[in-house]
Order: sequence, then C-alpha cells, then structure tokens
Amino acid sequence: MKIPFSPPYIDDSVLKEVEDTLRSGWITTGPKVKALEEAIGRMCGAKQVLCVNSWTSGAILMLRWLGVKPGDEVIIPAYTYSATALAVIHAGAKPVMVDCGEDFNISVEAVRKAVTERTKAIIPVDIAGYPCDYDQIMDLVREPSVTALFKAGSSVQEKMGRITVISDAAHSLGAYYDRGRRTGSETDIAIFSLHAVKNVTTAEGGAICLNLPEPFDNEALYRELRMTSLNCQTKDALSKSQAGGWRYDIVGLGMKINMADVNAAIGLAQIRQYDRLLAERKRVFEAYDKELSSRPWAICPPSVQGGKESSYHIYALRVKGFSESQRDRMIEEISKDGVAVNVHFIPLPMLSYFKGLGYKAEDFPQACSNYAHEISLPIYPQLDSAQIAHVLRAVERAYEAVKQASCA
Ligand SMILES: *Cc1c(COP(=O)(O)O)cnc(C)c1O
Repeated sequence: MKIPFSPPYIDDSVLKEVEDTLRSGWITTGPKVKALEEAIGRMCGAKQVLCVNSWTSGAILMLRWLGVKPGDEVIIPAYTYSATALAVIHAGAKPVMVDCGEDFNISVEAVRKAVTERTKAIIPVDIAGYPCDYDQIMDLVREPSVTALFKAGSSVQEKMGRITVISDAAHSLGAYYDRGRRTGSETDIAIFSLHAVKNVTTAEGGAICLNLPEPFDNEALYRELRMTSLNCQTKDALSKSQAGGWRYDIVGLGMKINMADVNAAIGLAQIRQYDRLLAERKRVFEAYDKELSSRPWAICPPSVQGGKESSYHIYALRVKGFSESQRDRMIEEISKDGVAVNVHFIPLPMLSYFKGLGYKAEDFPQACSNYAHEISLPIYPQLDSAQIAHVLRAVERAYEAVKQASCA
C-alpha cells in the first residue's frame, strides 16, 4: 500500500469549477477570485480578504505597506517554514527569531523579551493549524510599557501607534481561536496560504485578511492593496478588456502578485465543502490520537484546548526518548511500508542560509527538541480506515524496529 503525504483534494466539483473558468473566456483575476475572497471572509470573519499568488508575496506586500526599513526588527518563531523569515528579509527588515513552546507555537514570554524600540511587527505562526495565544499577543503589543518603547518609522506605523501583529495563518484556515472566532479575524493582519499542500488550495496562492483597528479603513485599504498587487495599475485587466476601457495609469511601484481566476476556481470548489473536508481531517487526526495516545513513547499533538480547535493541517507526532538519528531511522522504516511522512519543521537556524546570517540553533532549545522528536503523519480527507490502520501499523513497527536495534 502506497500512502502519499499530502495529495490535493480534487473531485468533480473542483474539475467543474476549473472547466467553467476555462470556458468562460476569462481566466485571470476576476469574478472567481472575488468569490473566493468573499467565501474566506464569510468563513473566518475577517473584515476584508485579498487573494494573491502566495503567502510569501502577501507577507512581503504587507510588510512593505507597513513601511519596514533596514534596521527594523520583526519578531518571528525559529520554528516555522522559511517563508516567515524570508518575507521579512525581502521587505528589508531583520527577522528576530525566538523560541517556541512545548505546543510548537511561538512563546509569548520569549516575544516579550525580544521586543526592542526597533520592533515593528510580530509574526506568530499557527503551527500545524493550532492557533497561537492571540489574546496574550494582542495584550502584549498594547501594554503601556511596550507602546512607550515603540518608535514609528512610517505614516502607517504612526497611525498604528504600536507593534503590528501579522499572523502566519498558513496552516490554520478554519481553526477556531476561541468559541466561534476563527483564525484570520483576531490579529491586525492574518495571511493564509493556499499552496498545494494546504487544507484549501489554489495550487499556489495566499489570502490576506485585514482587520486593522480605527482609524484605518479596511475597505479602502483592500482597494489600495488590490491595485498594488497588480503593478499599481489603476485598472485591472478585466475592466481594461471592456469596450472603451483602455486608458489606465501606473501610480506607484507595485508588485505583480495577483491571483488568477483559474487558480481561484480550485479553492472556491474546495471551500464550498470545507466544513465536511475539515470534519474528515478531524476524523483522521482522532483515529491517530485514539491509537497513539495509549503508547507511552508517543506525544500526540495539541488539537483542542479551551475554545481553541486546530484546523487539523498536520499531525505532528513526537517520539519520546529517541535521539534525532533514531527519529531519522524511524522515518526510513516507515518509508519501507510505502508511507510518506515528513518533519515539520527544521528550525530555521539549522538551514544554511540562516546559519550564514549568524542565527544559532542552540539559542532555540525547545525548537530543536521539538524538531528532533517530530514525525508528521499523512492527514487528508481521502484517507480511509484501512489506510489509517496501515499508517499506524507502519509507525508502530518502525518504532519497535529502531528500539530493538538500539537495545542490541
Ligand atoms: C506554506 C507556508 C508558508 C508559505 O506559503 P506559500 O503560499 O507557499 O508562500 C508560510 N508559512 C508557513 C508556516 C507555511 O507552512
């Protein structure tokens, strides 16, 4: 039995929506993108949603809008996908990495210690789809001692008057932050990824949620960013294609990061059935939990606590008592049974580029420990009970094989 790690969910409704777009005569940014933005906004409760061609480009766009400059700092976790840091560097600022907690998410205490007068933004990451402590993070940036330290370096920062919180919600579309409130609505800006391996995908894509406080006008900002994401061109391709609509202007230095309708169609068909798809993910997650929670060597990942509920994006199993190389061997053993697993994440300071910039893994002990013990199991709606049982047998067998080998 071969079990891939994370195939996209492509059913007849997805094919039909894409075909509809292809046959409609309009394939780039237009009605499907708008419909997807509205669907995401309705689901997560964000004030405005702008779709772009990736999480990464969306984060660069928002950091540029915020006006970060060389010398400015943006606090991020060391335990995340590289894009969180790369976006900060592309925008011209310095990522200040902090350690995570036992639950994989950024440590709010570590954030507090890292705040300086150069801090312009914090990017917490909902690792595996489990939301960060947003009440604590939003309280922190509003604390008088923290706002007193804040120095605005742009007109947007002036208007904000405090550190901006941009959540990396790449994994957490559909997660609950607390009863009834979904991720995407709780921070100033939240960005979902719609990349091929994410819960809802447009092949490549990102969705920027705007929830800026007074006196910002989120609707006006949506229009401005939409134009900025299309080369700061005053008219999009659809309006330019109408009879008599040829004249336009370029009013600034934008980016070319708009999402195409043909991509949006995939996500639109998925999000219409997302309640069911989420329930299917939860079913797989709970089946793993049910079996693995009785194993003394297994640490099951966080999913539900208080009002929080994960989007069940990644099943981040940890193996107690194994070294990193034993974990690696366990992955090799699992692969022999045709099961594709992964590791989320290699802490950024362990990657060459960040090492070269001077970041040191030993400064992030919790991130390194989580990494060394972690194995991500396949989780997606298509997995049936026979496949789930096969994954669990493979994991169990691999654990025993590595343990035996170590005792011998
Ligand atoms: C996938 C991912 C991203 C990047 O998303 P893209 O849409 O591929 O740019 C950013 N952060 C995290 C945590 C991710 O997993």
